[in-house]
Amino acid sequence: MPLGSAPDMPGRSAGGVVLWLEQAMAAEAEAGVPSVAPPLAGRVGAAVCVVGGGFTGLWTAIEIKERHPDADVVLLEAASCGFGASGRNGGWATGWHDELDHLIELWGLDDALLLAEESSRAIAHIGETCDRYGIDGGFRQHGALWVASTPAQLGASSGALDACRAHGRSGLLEEVSEVEVRQHTGAAGLLGGARHTDAAAVHPGRLVRGLRQVAVRLGVRLHEGTPVLAVEDSAPAVVHTLAGRVEADAVVLALGAWSGLLEELRRAFVVVGSHIVATEPLGSRLDPWPWAEGELLGDSQTSVHYAQVSPDRRIVFGRGLGTIGWRSSPSARQFFDPKVTRAVEGDFRRWFPSLADARFTHAWGGAVDRSPTHLPFVGTWGDAGNVHYGAGFSGNGVAPSVVVAKTLASLATQSPDRLTRSALATGPRALLPPEPLRSLGGTVVRRAVVHADDTEAAGGTPSLASRSLRHLVHFSLPSTGPLAGGSLTGLRRRLARRNATAAGPDGQHAR
Ligand SMILES: Cc1cc2nc3c(=O)[nH]c(=O)nc-3n(C[C@H](O)[C@H](O)[C@H](O)COP(=O)(O)OP(=O)(O)OC[C@H]3O[C@@H](n4cnc5c(N)ncnc54)[C@H](O)[C@@H]3O)c2cc1C
Repeated sequence: MPLGSAPDMPGRSAGGVVLWLEQAMAAEAEAGVPSVAPPLAGRVGAAVCVVGGGFTGLWTAIEIKERHPDADVVLLEAASCGFGASGRNGGWATGWHDELDHLIELWGLDDALLLAEESSRAIAHIGETCDRYGIDGGFRQHGALWVASTPAQLGASSGALDACRAHGRSGLLEEVSEVEVRQHTGAAGLLGGARHTDAAAVHPGRLVRGLRQVAVRLGVRLHEGTPVLAVEDSAPAVVHTLAGRVEADAVVLALGAWSGLLEELRRAFVVVGSHIVATEPLGSRLDPWPWAEGELLGDSQTSVHYAQVSPDRRIVFGRGLGTIGWRSSPSARQFFDPKVTRAVEGDFRRWFPSLADARFTHAWGGAVDRSPTHLPFVGTWGDAGNVHYGAGFSGNGVAPSVVVAKTLASLATQSPDRLTRSALATGPRALLPPEPLRSLGGTVVRRAVVHADDTEAAGGTPSLASRSLRHLVHFSLPSTGPLAGGSLTGLRRRLARRNATAAGPDGQHAR
């Protein structure tokens, strides 16, 4: 199956192919880059074993090698690097200043300011890394327009704007008017909002595949087609695969939406679908609008819309829409769902009536690890204190994965620093109810969100019931367990053997 495809599904010939990965793989083929690393066979030792070849795992491996060129780092990826959310996303590299008020509430002032600054640095780091290693990652730093698409969303950014002003960051988040939005994008019906001035667009496929090559060049031993089945938190930690095992001083689990494989993390997030459509290249038709040069465009709807103009001038338009995965695991429908695709295409037509005849060439989906706080968490699991994880990006992971990776690199090399001591690294801050309540309740809330959002978009007023249920999207229970507090006792030691049921990025763990 080509890397750009979704897990095998009947009737998916017209969809499920990821534009970004298709283009990245074509470029690799043209350049003669070997696109698959051999699976792990036999028993090996390593200083650090990274599990998961998305942005989080690759940035972690690269960070460790840049800091310690002689460190022996092994990276195990179930399918092929970039097959998860990292190769499928909307290419928004944005930091956390658009929710600085929320960060302060959750993490406290000092850590909120530190981590927001790190998130901005992360955007610059992506651009610098592309320059340093010659990655053609489509990095274009022209900001992001984050606006209201219905009157109900007006004022969504006011708390963050106030917090940025109050803490000397007003240059990073600025108000933008309805007129400016129209002049920049030509989109219909959008209202004012805020501009993230430091946001950048990336080509996710070329970025993640470029990072893969950098990791290999720096000496990371990469094994693809290697699903990890179990991890023992002994010293050394042991990572079991189908045909081999790695004994490592430290393990980093960078599993994104598959993090629910670690049983203890399942209540720390739900897995939700997000879907994207891409038009044919629109060339000079986009000339009148400056956003075509790489400015991002999205709204503050709960089932968020996000768009960019790709380097080859297609509009790539997505919406946080799709099913909820049972037991915090991805499901096949999250990778391509014709019904959701039609809904996203309908939204595109509403936003861009002047492009009514534009043809869609690609449609795909992906699985998002959505935490109750909307923010990621880093933690340590197991009695030996040598198995570290980072997850919960909640649809904003392109730039934040750099911050999480730096933290994981410090933890894995036992180099405590300000990041490892920050609120980011204290495990999940909130939990969701156990199953079946988590999936069933999540599905009810999700339907209410979509119903309320769609009703507002059509100019109506959603029912009180759907508006009330929509608020439950923020529902969580306090995390009082050991994962939050960092204590390592009483935790189960086994990575759940769930590969037989979890939908995954390839035939080996997508069944
Ligand atoms: C449709 C969509 C749109 C998005 N848009 C944006 C956006 O515009 N901006 C933004 O900031 N964020 C966006 N996100 C979120 C962002 O893409 C992710 O947060 C980010 O890529 C997470 O990277 P990761 O490395 O943690 O996870 P992933 O990229 O999912 O990587 C995890 C890897 O682990 C591998 N794996 C799974 N199980 C195993 C196993 N047992 N053994 C070995 N390997 C395993 C998987 O194959 C996968 O490659 C979007 C996500 C989706 C799905």
